[in-house]
Amino acid sequence: MIRKKICVANWKMNKNFVESNDFLKKITQKDLSPNSCELVICPSYDSLFLFDRFNSQLSFGAQDVSYLNNPSLTGEISVDMLTSHNCKYVIIGHSERRELLNETNESVSLKMKEVYNSEMIPILCIGETLDEKLAKLTDEILDKQIKKAFSKIDFKSQKDILIAYEPVWAIGTGQAAGYNEIKQNMKLIKKIINNIYTNNCNIYLLYGGSVNENNASQIINIDNVDGFLIGSASLKVDSFYKIFKQL
Ligand code: PEP
Repeated sequence: MIRKKICVANWKMNKNFVESNDFLKKITQKDLSPNSCELVICPSYDSLFLFDRFNSQLSFGAQDVSYLNNPSLTGEISVDMLTSHNCKYVIIGHSERRELLNETNESVSLKMKEVYNSEMIPILCIGETLDEKLAKLTDEILDKQIKKAFSKIDFKSQKDILIAYEPVWAIGTGQAAGYNEIKQNMKLIKKIINNIYTNNCNIYLLYGGSVNENNASQIINIDNVDGFLIGSASLKVDSFYKIFKQL
């Protein structure tokens, strides 16, 4: 059986619902016939209602979720709310949230547990900063981020889990990690996962960090890379579509 590829667009705070709708209309007019790659769009919350309109051709994800189901939490969004919009995936622990919004390995682990226990699939983001890389701490950081993220899950069911390896220094810089570096770190991530009990969950590894139409085909051919998490290059229909066609 061919293992599917997954191409995720992380739109962050770009695109209001009119712009999101326009992008989704344009991309769904293109040939998205099954090429064993699942296209996933993660717009901002104001476009949640568009999920129902386009979800026969695309999958959707949210960029975050609350780990509490407490209705008295101003500004948060719950697992139930996302599920009711046919949201299939949730990004958890993106480095921008870790850096700027106090996301910690602990809050990531609570969100991983909530999403695992729901119908949705988590996209766990991990990755070292430039300082950590220069201090040769990458292995230690990835080990800690993964083990902590999985630590609260009671692996009762087998489901998909996505892990996006995103070196922080490669995000939005135009400077993707090199071939050997991605290969080595994907191998390490695989090894860390293999030593955790996951009840044979189907774990997909994505690479993220300055993926574009020029480097996509080289990166997708690296061992253990099942797809991409893409920021900037996912904002234009043509570049995102060109990447999708290479998977
Ligand atoms: C990201 O934000 O997750 C990302 C990978 O961004 P970019 O593709 O712009 O580096």
